[in-house]
Amino acid sequence: MLEIKPICEHCAKALPNGSDQAMICTFECTFCQDCVINILENVCPNCGGGFERRPTRPLACLTKFCVTNYPVGEMEYVNPVKPQKFSPLKQALVNVDPRKR
Ligand SMILES: [Zn+2]
Ligand SMILES: [Zn+2]
Repeated sequence: MLEIKPICEHCAKALPNGSDQAMICTFECTFCQDCVINILENVCPNCGGGFERRPTRPLACLTKFCVTNYPVGEMEYVNPVKPQKFSPLKQALVNVDPRKR
């Protein structure tokens, strides 16, 4: 189940549940679309995987009236990318299809 993290891990931009700017990797490392395109170039700095657009949890599931009550995450996690550390990983994977990494 997705935690639906509330901010971008790199730039701390707000990414609420309804945002169409939230991108996630398979481990749910969460970044805004700007960072994924311009800084990460679709390489997750934590796992090397690619990103996909995060789905939005239906409003009905955020309330006590939902069969299963799962609120979105509130913990703000920020871990800005360190260029020196990220560069080798990015160079190795940026031209590899995320489905084949
Ligand atoms: Zn960002
Ligand atoms: Zn990741």
